[in-house]
Order: sequence, then structure tokens, then C-alpha cells
Amino acid sequence: MSLADFLPPLSRTALLLDLDGTLLDIAPTPDSVIVPPSLLDALRGLVVRLDGALAVISGRPVAQVDALLHAIPTAVAGEHGGATRFAPGAELERVPLPSAPAAWLVAAERLTAAHPGVLLERKERGFVLHYRAVPDLGPALRVALEGIIGSSDSFALMQARKAWEIKPRGADKGTAVAALMARAPFAGRLPIFIGDDVTDEDGMEVARAMGGAGLKVGAAFKDPAAVRTWLAAALRSNDGWPGVVGLGKKARGSAPGPR
Ligand SMILES: [Mg+2]
Repeated sequence: MSLADFLPPLSRTALLLDLDGTLLDIAPTPDSVIVPPSLLDALRGLVVRLDGALAVISGRPVAQVDALLHAIPTAVAGEHGGATRFAPGAELERVPLPSAPAAWLVAAERLTAAHPGVLLERKERGFVLHYRAVPDLGPALRVALEGIIGSSDSFALMQARKAWEIKPRGADKGTAVAALMARAPFAGRLPIFIGDDVTDEDGMEVARAMGGAGLKVGAAFKDPAAVRTWLAAALRSNDGWPGVVGLGKKARGSAPGPR
């Protein structure tokens, strides 16, 4: 048995993909990612093969994802499911969520000013502190951010890759999967969700609960390059997903792998 034996055939699959760390190699800053042309070719081909049932679900704003991927995916859920474009060229649909108080952003700016190398990324409703350049600061930044959000129950502090994100509760990658799968061309298919991060686990869980699969980079796939190779190989397949050169038994089935 290989991973491919657990997956629905292409003709019944809705493919839901995280972007950073899944399709794209992690870069020193969010702006410096490289999008290989071969990835764009594979996505273009898969949109056709899957009758449109291909979406990207990212923490980035939808416009950034569309700029990076030339708007090839049929749908893009951005901001961890907070905003979604359900069809090519369609208006964004937003989940009603609160915005982070201005005082929190002021406090975050103070943190970045006090710690060179820490990068503040503003989002529509929250913000991210990236500390890739100064990894030792991770724990201290967490404590500072916990102090900033205090006892707020409408926002959550999430760990991303060498980053902490403050985002409103009420939307996550799981709600994004459910919203996409309720609409054409995804409805009636089985979701395969691929992600690499803690925030992707909500999406994997919902995909599995719907009878599909949740696959993790680092377990089912060695790295984003392995995901890209697999997607390109799928275009040459009749209807089954190709096998995966994973990291052993953990690659099998849809059990979540180690971080
Ligand atoms: Mg990711």
C-alpha cells in the first residue's frame, strides 16, 4: 500500500493547497519567495484535470496569493479563511470578524523598534511578527504578545514559521475548507488538503472528516519541492494520484505527521 491508495482518484478530488512551506519554499521574508514557473504550469494543468476543483488556502491576503500564482487557482481563501474569492475574478467574500485594536499595533511597532530583525506584517484584521532573522527572540516575543492581547477572547495568538500571528477567532483553515466544499466546483468531491504548519491542521481535520485526506509536508512529503514534483507527476497519471517518496510509515494514510 502506498499513500496513493488512500487518496480519491483525480476525477473525484478537490485539491486544497496551502502556499508557503507547501507549494513554495520558505524564504527569509514573505516578500522574497520564489515561484517556480514549473509550479504554475502544474497548477494550470491540474485546474483543467480537476474540472476546476483546485483552491489555495493561505494566511496571506487573497490579492497576494493571486499575484504570486497568476490567479490560476479557481478559488483562493486568504487570511486563514477570513476572506475568500470563490471563483475566478469574483468579489472577495469576508467572514465578519473584528479588527485588532489600534493600540495593539502601536505596541507591536514598539516591539519591532526595540528588536532589530523583527518584522511587523500588518494584515486586514490582525498582524504578524516575523523573527526569522533573530530566532532566539521567539519566546520573548510570545510573552510580549500575550501581554498585548491580554484576556481578549475574540483574538488568538498563533504560532507560524518563525513568526507569531495575532488573528481574530471565528475563521480558520478548517472553516475555509468547509466553505469551499459547499460550493461548485468543489461540492460533491473529496478534499485533499496539503499543508505544512500548525494552522493547516484545522484544514486537514475538516478534509479528513469529509472523507478526504489531510497530508502534511514533513511527513507525507519531504519538502515543498516534493509536493511540486508530485503535482507535476499527477498530470501524467490516468486518474490515480502518484506515489509519494515520503519519510516512511508516517507518510501513509492521513494521520498528521510530526511538525
Ligand atoms: Mg504554510
